[in-house]
Amino acid sequence: MAGFFKKLFNKVTNKAEIDWDELEADLIGADLGARTTMAIVDDLREMGRKISADDVISVCKQHIAGILPEDLPAFTPRADGSPTVILVVGVNGTGKTTSSAKLAWLLKNQGYSVSLAAADTFRAAAVEQLCVWADRLGVPVIKGAPNADPASVCYTAHQKAINDGTQFLICDTAGRIHTRHNLMQELEKIERTIGKQDEHAPHHRLLVVDATTGGNALAQAREFNKAIPLDGLIVTKLDGSGKGGIAVVIQQELKIPTRFIGLGEEASQFKAFNKQEFVEGIF
Ligand code: GDP
Repeated sequence: MAGFFKKLFNKVTNKAEIDWDELEADLIGADLGARTTMAIVDDLREMGRKISADDVISVCKQHIAGILPEDLPAFTPRADGSPTVILVVGVNGTGKTTSSAKLAWLLKNQGYSVSLAAADTFRAAAVEQLCVWADRLGVPVIKGAPNADPASVCYTAHQKAINDGTQFLICDTAGRIHTRHNLMQELEKIERTIGKQDEHAPHHRLLVVDATTGGNALAQAREFNKAIPLDGLIVTKLDGSGKGGIAVVIQQELKIPTRFIGLGEEASQFKAFNKQEFVEGIF
C-alpha cells in the first residue's frame, strides 16, 4: 500500500498536460469508487491542466480525510464484568481466521482476558488453524466438532466466557460465499443465540475484507450488512497490492468504519486503524 498513490500521481503528472481519463481510471483502480473519483477530478479540473503530483495528492488527501471518521475509541471491557462478544464475519480467504487470532493477541497484549470460539465448523481446516493460532498465542479456544452448529459453538463459548469472567470473546464464524443465503441465515442464528445469554450481545460485528479484492469487498460489505448490522471492518493484506481505497469507499457508501488493519501474516502485523497514519501511508 505504501506510496501507491504517490507513484500513481507521478505517472499521471509527469506529462506536459494531464490526461484526465487516465487519472480517473487510476483513481478508480485505487478502489476509491466512482463518487470520490469524480469529486476529486472535478476539483482538479478547476485548477487547470498544469497541475503537479503535489496538487493531486493534496486534493485527494482532503477528500479522503473528509470521508473517514475520526478514530474510534479502543475496545474496553464492560463495566459489569460480562464478556464483550465480537463476531468476526467475512468470506473465506479474506483473512478472517487469522484476523480473529490477531485481534485476540492485540487485546491480550493490552492486558485483557480473551477467548476464541472456532465456529467455522464447515471447514475442519479453519477450526484446526484457529486452534494452532490459539495454542501459539496462549489464548483459550472453544471448538466445535466438524459440521457442528456454529451457533451452538458460540453459545457454549459465550457461556464459558461468562462463567470464567473472560473480558472478550472473539467468534470466528463460517464464510462460505457459495451458499450465501444459508450463510446469512446462519449469522442471524448466531446473533439470536448469543443474545440469549446477554441481550446486548454480540457487542461488535466486524467484517473482514481483503484489500486486494477491490470492488468485491464493497459488494461483500453490502451483503453482510443486510444480514447483521456491521459496526466495523478489518481490512487485511494492506502489505500487499491492496491500495486501501476500499476503506474509504465502504465508509462513504455504507458508513462502516475501519477498526483494524492487517499488514502481514504474523500476529503482530495487525493494528487499530489510525486515520492520520492511514492517509499518510497511502501517499
Ligand atoms: P479465512 O479463510 O478468511 O479465514 O482466511 P485465513 O485467515 O485463512 O487467511 C487466508 C490467507 O491470508 C492466509 O494465508 C493468511 O496468512 C493470509 N493473510 C491474512 N491476513 C493477512 C494480511 O494482513 N497480510 C497478508 N499478507 N496475508 C494475510
